[in-house]
Amino acid sequence: MVYNTATNRFVLSNHVVLTDVATQCLTSFSLDFERTSANAKAGPHLTVNLVEVNRHAVSFKFVQPTYPGDPNGPNDPNPAAHEASQNNPVGGPQDNMLPPACSPELPSANAAADSMDGTQCPANKLVITPRRPIPQGAVFTVAVYYTGKPGVHHDGDGTTEGWFRSPDGSFVTTEPVASEDWMPLNDYPTAKPSYDFYDRVPAGKVGVANGVLIGRVQHPPTPEFPHGSVTWHWRQTAPIASYLVEDSIGNYKIRSHIVGGIKFYEVQDRAISARQQAKNLAIMHLQPGITRFESRFNGRYPFSSDGIIIGLPQASFEEEMETMITFEGGTINTDVLYHENMHQWWGDNVTEGSYSMTFFKEGMATLAEFLFAARQAEHAAGGPRTATGRGAFQQSLVRTFKSVYGQRGGFWTTAPSNPTPYLLFNFSNTYDRPGAAYIALRQILGPRNFRLALRMMQRRYGGGHITEPQLEAAFQHWLPVHSAACQARLGQFFTQWFDTAYARGGVNRPDVTGPGLAGPGFYGAGGCTR
Ligand SMILES: [Zn+2]
Repeated sequence: MVYNTATNRFVLSNHVVLTDVATQCLTSFSLDFERTSANAKAGPHLTVNLVEVNRHAVSFKFVQPTYPGDPNGPNDPNPAAHEASQNNPVGGPQDNMLPPACSPELPSANAAADSMDGTQCPANKLVITPRRPIPQGAVFTVAVYYTGKPGVHHDGDGTTEGWFRSPDGSFVTTEPVASEDWMPLNDYPTAKPSYDFYDRVPAGKVGVANGVLIGRVQHPPTPEFPHGSVTWHWRQTAPIASYLVEDSIGNYKIRSHIVGGIKFYEVQDRAISARQQAKNLAIMHLQPGITRFESRFNGRYPFSSDGIIIGLPQASFEEEMETMITFEGGTINTDVLYHENMHQWWGDNVTEGSYSMTFFKEGMATLAEFLFAARQAEHAAGGPRTATGRGAFQQSLVRTFKSVYGQRGGFWTTAPSNPTPYLLFNFSNTYDRPGAAYIALRQILGPRNFRLALRMMQRRYGGGHITEPQLEAAFQHWLPVHSAACQARLGQFFTQWFDTAYARGGVNRPDVTGPGLAGPGFYGAGGCTR
């Protein structure tokens, strides 16, 4: 990156280099890159100047995406093949029966969810044609040189994410898709390259990215940087999912310390008041202890570093950027830190296999908030070494489950594994319902087997991604009773908790729960036999 903080622009030779392997012969391939978005004020205005494959300039063009599996490919002449929608198949004025090619960029969170069904998807596919086909198995490099203003993206739920402008530079928080509003990439969570960041910025400004800070190099004044410039080099050798790439530039103050072999970064914008910075720092200091607590469930922490960056912009959400958690609005919150830190195992190390699996990792992060509440109850009742403390821990989880299970109205109407873009980050289906399901699974498997299931998934899928059948198979594996009836009942449990949209109202909700919890339970009368 070559970035001028004063103008908020990528300049000069700003570029990204990707090293890829061809898994099939490639006559052409595409990256995702949003040069302009529906947001006229804070959206990007970017221009691609040059694309190279193996250091040779090649031709490129931008096209609209097409629906998955379109036999005509990106050149499908039928405009209906390039329509946005919340639903599958798309709605829209002509009631197009094809699946949607993209999710709509809703102008605000107050807009009607389906107000953009049937609109045309923007031309965000950067199609690159090498001089001759790249053979299967070949390793090749792609360099994309681009300049202009990075920016934010409107989501399917009307929120914005991406490259937020701060008075002195930027603050990047991008879930689920806005990495492509500042950098061309394969914008899908299972695409997980490792990264080196070389951020050249005006002298005095600070670059903050994933992984560890390798070093910085000062440069003398130039016409673009009349007061000199500095290149910050960060490296993350572990793979990073598309929406977890962090790269913020500004007047950030970086502290770091090593605890238990893990390097913890504490980063704040200097424009935050000294009083607030001190308050924030007290909470940031909790991160090593939270990491240790969460390791008791998940197993060893998966990365060599961890950290937090607190920025000024009102980005409307915090995010689990890999090893560099973002907190917006100049403040941090302990409960949310438990949530985002849990994501380092779930979402970051073991990534969801598709967007419809978002509930899997948000449920785990919600469980971390439930465990934090239980930990506080445990401390209040005498601590983890006392029987009363341990009892209070357990009782807190039982109470949390009961309050979620007692929800009525529209709480159960969306299946966690089948949300629309509008409901992808809805609390009931993506956070609380799967979070409560994990409490029930802990009761069904027993605390020890539950931990062993989590650790098995970390070992098996760490650095990659997990599918819903793989998630369910891991819990099935650690079910203490291997009768066909209990296995079938656990299968029913998953269908009810993850995959079922219930009619609104009445007693419409899952009817398989767990031992000691509200609802019919799992074993014994009406359930399966131990
Ligand atoms: Zn989360």
